[in-house]
This record gives sequence, C-alpha cells and structure tokens, in this order.
Amino acid sequence: LISSPTSQGLHIIHIAAEMAPVAKVGGLGDVVSGLSKALQKRGHLVEIVIPKYDCMQYDHVRDLRALDVVVESYFDGQLFKNKIWVGIVEGLPVYLIEPQHPAKFFWRGQFYGERDDFKRFSYFSRAALELLLQAGKKPDIIHCHDWQTAFVAPLYWDIYTAKGLNSARICFTCHNFEYQGTTHASELASCGLDVSQLNRPDRMQDHSSHERVNPVKGAVVFSNIVTTVSPTYAQEVRTAEGGRGLHKTLNAYSKKFIGVLNGIDTDAWDPSTDSYLKVQFNFDDLLGKRENKADLRKHLKLSSADPMQPLVGCITRLVPQKGVHLIRHAIYRTMELGGQFVLLGSSPVEHIQREFEGIAKHFENHPQIRLILKYDEALSHSIYAASDMFIIPSVFEPCGLTQMIAMRYGAVPIARKTGGLNDSVFDVDDDTIPLQFRNGFTFLTPDEQSAGNALERAFSHYRKNIESWQQLVQRNMKIDFSWDSSASQYIELYEKSVARAKASKMA
Ligand code: ADP
Repeated sequence: LISSPTSQGLHIIHIAAEMAPVAKVGGLGDVVSGLSKALQKRGHLVEIVIPKYDCMQYDHVRDLRALDVVVESYFDGQLFKNKIWVGIVEGLPVYLIEPQHPAKFFWRGQFYGERDDFKRFSYFSRAALELLLQAGKKPDIIHCHDWQTAFVAPLYWDIYTAKGLNSARICFTCHNFEYQGTTHASELASCGLDVSQLNRPDRMQDHSSHERVNPVKGAVVFSNIVTTVSPTYAQEVRTAEGGRGLHKTLNAYSKKFIGVLNGIDTDAWDPSTDSYLKVQFNFDDLLGKRENKADLRKHLKLSSADPMQPLVGCITRLVPQKGVHLIRHAIYRTMELGGQFVLLGSSPVEHIQREFEGIAKHFENHPQIRLILKYDEALSHSIYAASDMFIIPSVFEPCGLTQMIAMRYGAVPIARKTGGLNDSVFDVDDDTIPLQFRNGFTFLTPDEQSAGNALERAFSHYRKNIESWQQLVQRNMKIDFSWDSSASQYIELYEKSVARAKASKMA
C-alpha cells in the first residue's frame, strides 16, 4: 500500500460518500473537495477515501491505478476482498474502494437511492477503516461525513483502536439532519458493531423506536468533534422542530458541537476564468456578464427584446426542503412582474418531477420562462453568470452554496432567512445590519406572500436605480466566500482536539 508522505502539519483523512467533481450529488461533494484543498494549501496532509462507483466522472481522476494488494474487510460474518485504487482528483490523493462483494455495492448506476444503502455504506465505512489500518496510516484526524460514513465513529472506538489504528481523533460533519439513515437495529451487526451495546437510548437507538438505530446519532455520541455547516443551522437543530429527533442528543453534546459555515471552491467558481462561460468577466467588467445573459437567452430561446429585463435564476434539487411551492410561485410572480425566469433542477421525488414537467411543458415556447429539468453542470455555470437575481426560498437550508456562487457571479440573492442562508444573505433594506454587509433580499415566513414581497422589492430596486444595483453586484462579487476562514476554523477544532488527546495521555 501507498505510504503517506510526511508533512509538518496535521494528517487528515476524509472518509466520504461524495467528492466533487468525480462523485457529486450535492453540497457534500463540494465540501469534501473544497475543504480538503484549503487544508492542503496550508501544508496539511489530506487524503480522501471514497467508494469506487461505476457512475463516477473518471475523466477528472488523474493517474488512476489499482494497487497490487487487496484489502480484506469484514461483513455479515465473512471477509470480502476489496480492490484498492489510487488517483489524484483536483490535486488531492484519493483512495477508491471497489468491494469484491457479490451484491456489487457500487455498481448500480447511481450514488444513492438503492434499497440496500444501509448495507452499502456500512460496508464501505468498515472497509475504509480496514484500509487505513492495513496501510499503517497514522492520521491525526479522521473526518467522516453524513450518515453514510457515520459508522466510522463507533467502528473506530469499538473495533479499530484495539487493532492498532489509534492515532486519530474523529470529526463528524452532518451536512443535513434530514437524512439520518435509521434502520432496524439488527442491520447494524453486518459491519461488526455490537447491537446489544449500541442499541441504547444514550448511544445509537433512534428516538422513534426501541428497535431502530440511528447512525448520525452514533456519530454524534462517538466523535470527538461534531460540526454542521452553518452557525444558524447548528442552533436550529438543537430545537425540537429543527432537530429531526436529535435535538436532545445535540444538546447533551453541545460542548463538542459547532456550526462552521461552508466556503465555496473559488477556483472552480470563478467568473474570470470559468471556461464554461461564453465570456469570462469580473467585478470591473460587467459587460461580460451582459454578454453571458444575451447568450443564455439565445441558447434557451428566450426573448432578447429588452437587455435590461431582469433575469431570475434558480438552480436546485427539487425537494420539499428547497421550498418547491415557493419556487413555483416565484416563476408565476416573476412573469407578472415582467421578468424572465430560468430554473435548472431535477427531482428524485416522482410527483414533484411530474409536476414540474407539467410546468415546463406549459412554458415550452414561452419567451420569458424556461424550466430545464436535469442535472447539468455546464448549464448551471451559464445560469449563474447570466442571472441578475437568484432565488433560494428554502424551508430549511443547512448551509446552501448556491447563494454564494450566485453572488460571486453577480446575481443578487433572494433568500429565506434560515440556516446558512441567514448567515450569508443580509437584506438590503435591513437597518440593523451594517451597510457594507447588506447583499440581497430576505424573507422570514415560508409562504407565497413573503417570498413574493421579497421578489417585488428586488425588482423595484433593480428598476429604480440601475447604478446602485450595479454597485451592489460589484460589492457582492468581491465578497470572500473562499474556504480560507472556514478552513481556519476546522484547523483550530482539529488542533484543539489533538492537543486534548495528548494532554489526557500524559496525565
Ligand atoms: P444541496 O447540497 O442541498 O443540494 P447546496 O446549495 O449545498 O444544496 O449545493 C447545491 C450544489 O449543486 C450547487 O453547486 C449547485 O450549483 C448544484 N446543483 C443543484 N442542482 C443542479 C442541477 N440541476 N444541475 C447542475 N448543478 C446543480
């Protein structure tokens, strides 16, 4: 196996189900790559372990090769071989695990949504730790993410420290408490965890039933550091309404639980170098932005009659969390207000997908409205660059990246005040906020009237004084949404935890 080069800084290993751009479903993939790159830039040694999915974007993996050795890992009472691949993604060393298991866990044509997801990812969590053990890795931090790799925390303390993989502190980040991966308790045994020990109310037992276990709860209990992706969301999930059953656990462990706002990958999301764009542009040259708007209109066969007609963009997974009813309302309200609306989104929820297909069809040849119902990275870049405004009316939003990307591309956000949106979008008309921080339009109540009002205020600002709008756009484009400050916070958390471990060993 490949040994880790020595480094002065910390040795951090992420174990995750996603990594952008090779295996990305949503924000999790962006965070794993963005945070890792920022940590690496500061001299820390970062490695990443992900499953080797059949549906990965292999053209983004450099120097991909299979190692000669095979790692055997335990599952369902047997040992299974795993082929280990290594490669470089975005300059980061990555291990890809390919299980030689008859269920072909990562050979399904999709990342999630399989009936045996619990098995697939508990298997992967165990195989990842086995890889670290057999490779003789001595990381300072093992950082796992979401329910899919939450198993790493109890597996590490209950099984792997005794085997000799014992140098690390465990950090767990929950990117969305909506998804906790709960299942029948007996399933936990497959990856070697002790069900009778863990299916207890103070450990992994789910609040809903004595017979169900909750991997996210397990990771909260068993990790040294627990984070989520914005300070406001960290507060929200500690309440009965926001915590999805975990608020009591999160309050019990509040000392190690903190919200750190995600950054965005400012290399990947840079309008001055973005090769997906018709014309690159920056805050000094907003003409380039106009050209992108004209190009998108042409490409989507929207009316080009009025170059100043405001264009509202929306790029999202169409799931209830994102406020689909408010997105639908915003489409019609934008039309009434005389704007144009472009939605790029797709839904894993069949009735929502069908509903939006109906709306898309209705507006098929409409000069002002276009719905594109698929996942399309290239088109997403063009929409950010072309939009004057960008709407994110989420019911809840752990962090949200699209508001930050939108601002970097000169689209002014219209957002609901929740979670990470509340930590990054500040209303232009809110006198309690210092002028220099005001960057968009916000609303509090998740109903049509409130969303509509925010949209109207945005239109009225845009039309009243185009010069002040342009100043707002330029100010927003200069905001630092890079990982710099968030990475510093993570490093501080890591270092404190490592120092605490050292101190307790000496005592
Ligand atoms: P979530 O992780 O809940 O989906 P985030 O705002 O954290 O939401 O991250 C969404 C990311 O996925 C952004 O980078 C956004 O541009 C991208 N995205 C969402 N839907 C699409 C789509 N249909 N096509 C292309 N990119 C999309």
